[in-house]
Amino acid sequence: MSVKPRAAVLTMGCKVNQFESAAMAESLRAAGYEVAGGPSGADLLVLNTCTVTQKADQEALSLLRRLRRAAPGARLVVTGCLAEADPELLAAAGLADLVLGQADKDRLVSRLAAWLDGAERPAAAPPALEVTAPLSERTRAFYKIQDGCSAGCAYCAVPRARGPSRSLEPDRVLAGLRSYLGRGVAEVVLCGIHLGRWGWDLTPSLKLAELLHIMDGELELEAAACRLRLSSLEPLEVDDELLAAFEMYDWLAPHFHLPLQSGSDRVLELMGRPYRRADFRRLAENINRVWPLAALGTDVMAGFPGETEADFQATLELLADLPFSYYHIFPYSPRPGTPAAARPGQVPEHLKRRRAEALKKADQAARMNFARRNWGTAQTGLVENRPHQASGRLKVLTGNSLSALLPPGLKIAPGRLIQVTLASPANPWGLLEASEHQIN
Ligand code: SF4
Repeated sequence: MSVKPRAAVLTMGCKVNQFESAAMAESLRAAGYEVAGGPSGADLLVLNTCTVTQKADQEALSLLRRLRRAAPGARLVVTGCLAEADPELLAAAGLADLVLGQADKDRLVSRLAAWLDGAERPAAAPPALEVTAPLSERTRAFYKIQDGCSAGCAYCAVPRARGPSRSLEPDRVLAGLRSYLGRGVAEVVLCGIHLGRWGWDLTPSLKLAELLHIMDGELELEAAACRLRLSSLEPLEVDDELLAAFEMYDWLAPHFHLPLQSGSDRVLELMGRPYRRADFRRLAENINRVWPLAALGTDVMAGFPGETEADFQATLELLADLPFSYYHIFPYSPRPGTPAAARPGQVPEHLKRRRAEALKKADQAARMNFARRNWGTAQTGLVENRPHQASGRLKVLTGNSLSALLPPGLKIAPGRLIQVTLASPANPWGLLEASEHQIN
């Protein structure tokens, strides 16, 4: 192959996908491709898909259609969870020029080289864990340290798309983090598909809390002015040792994302989720007692097969009782090949929609209450790369995941961690104001 096409990598879905897209873009750049920030002008488009819901599948197909229309001459390469779990759907839609499985993300350059030279269709191969921390001009990076899932939630197609749980060894995690620190990244989000099970598959097996202790011993996170945030953790995996690590280390952002899915024990049982309502309540209340201003986010599913109105009300009640700062809401959609897809008691679409709407209202109220609880508090904020579009003002992201606008005209280099005091929104965008600041 002589002249390399101008490429762009587009991402759908979770933080793990965002990490993998950054890694793919980096590998293309290192191989001499010009990598554009968006699809405009690119003649090789790599779409990293998600398949968590039916809506995610439809959004992938509709994005592919739009890309095809906008750039009829561009080659479309599709990878990610949808490509792995349901390549037949992509083939039937006839929108992708090349479909690559998850494992091909790690060897994208050689797969593309073979395909562009000789139209080779790559064979499936077992998934691997990418070690390299992708270069990024961003001040914040997602770092995948675990992939796959060995749990069997009845609604979830992710284990099929990503294979069993596997962890990056501690020395490789440290190497990746050192590389981010060396490049001045101010926040690293440790992510995985089942992050709370990091280390269970290693020999000897380890726990996430132990990894945090290793990091503290080996890295100068505070001196480097870098904070770490943990992405989603399954409730039963947030044990006393992990909570103790949050108490010990100031470099850990006070942010807990714990997927609840349902507040009804009956539905949790049907879902194959291993905790119960009382477990979740105990954990959320413990966290709130120690960190009253920590971000406490969750995922909630509306309309799982068999969910009655009473089950749904039990969910709403639990949500209202606990100090959540936000919810992510997912109307249930059957994923091919999952146990729940074939079950009786599928909830009609209009009921799912109604329940999801009720959850959205509850989410807005939770976000507002959480912002109010933070008025007048001092927080550490990360100055973001891009200013707020409408006002041109710089923004900060606090450790407890709130966005706030810095005073107009203030000039601070992106990527700095600064002390701010949060104040009520006094702007047309409803964003918190970050007044007074002090550079660390
Ligand atoms: S824990 Fe359950 S919901 Fe999460 S990825 Fe694994 S199977 Fe899916």
